[in-house]
Amino acid sequence: MKQISFYIPDLNENSGRYVDKALTSGKSLFRGEFHEKCTHYFNTLFFPSKSYLVSSCTDAICMALIILELQQQDEVIISSYTFVTVANAIKNRGCHIKLADTIANSPYMDLQSVKKLITPRTRVVIDMYYGGIVSEENVKIRKFCQENNLFYIADAAHLIISEETVQTIIEIADITVFSFHETKVLNCGQGGLMVLNSSLINHSADEVYNHGTDKDLVKITQKKFYEWTNEGLEFNLNEISCALLWGQIEGSKKTVDNLKKNVSKYNDRLKVLKDKGKIQNWTELNQTSFCPTIMYLVLDSAENCTSLKEHLAHKKIDTRQHYYPLHQSQYYRNKSGKQDSCNNASHLYDRLLRLPLFSLLSEDDVITICNTILTFYEAKNSALV
Ligand SMILES: *Cc1c(COP(=O)(O)O)cnc(C)c1O
Repeated sequence: MKQISFYIPDLNENSGRYVDKALTSGKSLFRGEFHEKCTHYFNTLFFPSKSYLVSSCTDAICMALIILELQQQDEVIISSYTFVTVANAIKNRGCHIKLADTIANSPYMDLQSVKKLITPRTRVVIDMYYGGIVSEENVKIRKFCQENNLFYIADAAHLIISEETVQTIIEIADITVFSFHETKVLNCGQGGLMVLNSSLINHSADEVYNHGTDKDLVKITQKKFYEWTNEGLEFNLNEISCALLWGQIEGSKKTVDNLKKNVSKYNDRLKVLKDKGKIQNWTELNQTSFCPTIMYLVLDSAENCTSLKEHLAHKKIDTRQHYYPLHQSQYYRNKSGKQDSCNNASHLYDRLLRLPLFSLLSEDDVITICNTILTFYEAKNSALV
């Protein structure tokens, strides 16, 4: 029986060549040639927004909160159904975390739940583009933020950046953050990007990026020394990672094509289960140009999710569940003294199963996975007769 991995990163040969080049060129390993190439690429793609290459999506969020001048006691709303470091970035800034629920059967944050959490201290909403897709709910929440004078940070950690997928997403958010972590599709080991909407571009953001100094002035003006001018940290992405990333960017068109092809195959083969309500929600390849980067199924019961996961594991097919909701964690309950309930998020975690999806996954493997899932349900049905 062949093993099918959940995820295998696609480090194409160009990435390796560029790393060699970065190492042997004798040029700077801090903001060298590839840092400049990548930055130029993102700045052009996201024009008139401004792009900052950082060492993780987590760092991008930390930097964003500094740029937005968040103060202690300010409140930030996030979904209970998200990655832990989104919450920790807020906590490290000394701000309060408010956890919103998701829509029923969906990984997207619910606007109605967000509205209930608004207080005079609410400053920011961080909203996830789950699986790389911008949903209607994301657009509604963004609009709500705009109307209520709140900053909107789009957590686009899952989104694959390519010419065809970015469209106008950057213009709708105040700040958009991306991840190039190994578990994401565009991968340089560890890395991230912060994209600042043109309306927010100012010198202060550059200072935060430059360790909290006016270093850039020394380069472009007559100033002889740089000095401490702002808050900031070392957020920069190192040159070796930029070289890897440049190879990934070059291969992104192929990656997008492969992911779309595989999602489409999953949709074709599993449609019968969707029609019967065994699958209540899933990643669907629709007409937008966005490229799904996560293949998820929301199943009809927690029991079916657990036993299907076991069945697939038995057939050497690796699947995953995520995110264990933040409000359920012991740490949050102890620290906050709260017993929040985000029932949709809890219910979702119990029933959401992620199937293998990556650029190198073959169509044959997708068919094997689908057939294994179909056999599971057939066996269940015949057991009932
Ligand atoms: C992975 C992830 C992050 C963090 O990305 P890093 O680059 O590892 O810091 C943030 N948000 C979401 C939704 C993620 O999945």
